[in-house]
Amino acid sequence: MSRLWPIPLPAAQQAPLSWRLPVPEARPHRVWLSPPHLAGGEMAALQATLESGWVAPAGPVPAAFEAAIAEATGLPHVVAVASGTAALHLGFRCLDLEPGDEVWTSTLTFVASIAPAVQMGARPRFLDVCPQSWTLDPNLLADALAKAGRSGKLPRAVVPVDLYGQCSDLLTIRGICDRWGVPVLSDSAGGMGAMQRGRHAGVGAQLAAFSFNGNKIITAGGGGALASDDPALIARARHLATQAKEPGPHYQHETTGFSYGLSSVLAAVGLAQLPALEDRVAARRALFEGYRQGLGGLPGLSFMPEPAWGRSSRWLTTVQIDATAFGADRETVRRALAEEGIESRPVWKPLHLQPVFRGAGKSGGQLAARLFEHGLCLPSGSALTAADQARVVGVIRGCCTE
Ligand SMILES: *Cc1c(COP(=O)(O)O)cnc(C)c1O
Repeated sequence: MSRLWPIPLPAAQQAPLSWRLPVPEARPHRVWLSPPHLAGGEMAALQATLESGWVAPAGPVPAAFEAAIAEATGLPHVVAVASGTAALHLGFRCLDLEPGDEVWTSTLTFVASIAPAVQMGARPRFLDVCPQSWTLDPNLLADALAKAGRSGKLPRAVVPVDLYGQCSDLLTIRGICDRWGVPVLSDSAGGMGAMQRGRHAGVGAQLAAFSFNGNKIITAGGGGALASDDPALIARARHLATQAKEPGPHYQHETTGFSYGLSSVLAAVGLAQLPALEDRVAARRALFEGYRQGLGGLPGLSFMPEPAWGRSSRWLTTVQIDATAFGADRETVRRALAEEGIESRPVWKPLHLQPVFRGAGKSGGQLAARLFEHGLCLPSGSALTAADQARVVGVIRGCCTE
């Protein structure tokens, strides 16, 4: 493995990607929500991988990517897979989810937190979030588990979610779930670089899923990982991710698996990106401070809080706009930004309000629904320039009529 990776290339061969890829005719100064931010070493990593011939979803490059993820997160056992959603799917399989089982998650999340479980026949229950972090409310979870425990209807798994780079209170949640013997699968897809109680996102769960999709703080150009401190769980996940082949010269199967391996080509991009993680967190946190300075004094505008027990990566800077105090509502601001070629996006629509989950269980109050109604994610790419951030701030300030 060490012989093949890394293979250094002369600097002259490290051509920027833009040399060869067609550049779309973008409108001038289009500002995206969270575009990929190349670290500089991707081309060399790709070239080395292609020259080595190891391009399949196996071999030294995915293995090196897994080791780098283990080092970055502190979770010792990692399997790299094709997406964060694939990692969650494998996680549910490793927890022996069966049709009819309940799976509980925060209602303020992306559909992928629960979609694989629902596709496996699980019944979802959506729990509200807490005001300190906007992530799964541990007190609500404790009450709901006690109630479910008394009636013998405990969920098969609880899925706390790291939201916009902010961790759930995972250790507290794990403690609560341990009392009832319910395993925790952390959706840490948006959690790379975020910390909770001195640990990286995902640490403390039985299983944690990460994403390296194009919009995430670190991207492989697409990809994900499932990680754990339990080697047996990750060995099982790896078996399932590679078609559940039993040992032997012919193909022998005792169960069916998936083709979820991460291509070496993508793993090489991820490997080149990961060393920049701390820089990316610093850049996104600095952007957040810039927004706070530019917008913090406006009436009716407030920012996603950061609890004392965590360090958010500020993957996406997220604000709340109280229309009465601000003089314009969230959608007015979003459309004003769009007219200037600036992408922004409402906070997740809570899953209990999604038509596809009509009739699903719901616990807790209306905080997530309010956060959706008033919440807007602002351009937060780690390569966003000060000039572009000033444009975003200027458009939002211009909407404030109070
Ligand atoms: C991005 C994301 C996912 C899905 O990851 P993919 O790699 O796009 O499949 C799941 N959950 C959350 C919270 C995410 O942000």
